[in-house]
Amino acid sequence: EEMVLQLRKENLISVRGKNIPPPVTTFEELKNEYRLSDRLLQNLASATYSKPTPIQMQAMPLLLQGRNVMASAPTGSGKTIAFLTPLINDLNKPSKVGYRAVILAPTRELAAQIYRECVQLAQQTALKIHFQTKANNNNATTGHANKKYDILISTPNRVRFLLEQEPPALRLAEVEWLIIDEADRLMEEGVNNFKDQVDAILAACTNKKRKLALFSATYTVPVAKWAIKNLTNLARVIIGHENS
Ligand code: ADP
Ligand code: MG
Repeated sequence: EEMVLQLRKENLISVRGKNIPPPVTTFEELKNEYRLSDRLLQNLASATYSKPTPIQMQAMPLLLQGRNVMASAPTGSGKTIAFLTPLINDLNKPSKVGYRAVILAPTRELAAQIYRECVQLAQQTALKIHFQTKANNNNATTGHANKKYDILISTPNRVRFLLEQEPPALRLAEVEWLIIDEADRLMEEGVNNFKDQVDAILAACTNKKRKLALFSATYTVPVAKWAIKNLTNLARVIIGHENS
């Protein structure tokens, strides 16, 4: 316990919530303790990620346990890999039930970056990943065609638009993971505010196994309040000096 506290202190990791697992210091520990696959270990290694960054040290064990997580860590600290790795590990292999994971980012460009990292990290898993934009609206998502995909990466506006079609052009009933990147920025948007967007999307994610993960560069009180109110057994992770 003393060692765990020391490890968190050294890496500027703060946690809030019940039963937070110790941070890991290597990716191999994730294999031994959380059944991270050899495939993912290899994919992390071939991306030349030799050891986890602080956000990865603490958020990966939590997400591998299937917890609802709110995490904040500075820009450039490896948040994308922190959520993609547990997600890809959990989905494991393709299934034809429809989307099992949705990853949202506030802009198309940020979503495209996540898509590229996801494709790379999911190499050899055969998981099917769909990057949804306005431009490719018609080719894949309508009707039952979307059942061939496992992961959807898009913007909240786009997803909400598809859900609001008559009949809905998107089915999220099988979604087990909803990940919202740059969650603090989503909150800032005016007309379509974060809460409305997420509420609409969450309402469509009717699977009881659904987990939510919120990632952002800065810790914001409105997001924390929303998360505490809406998520069971929430774990919060903050990387960096708490008042920065
Ligand atoms: P953030 O979302 O926190 O701003 P990113 O996820 O975009 O940061 O990651 C920033 C950079 O760090 C990317 O180029 C990514 O490939 C790299 N990176 C991620 N994890 C590691 C790691 N464990 N070791 C080294 N580099 C990493
Ligand atoms: Mg990021």
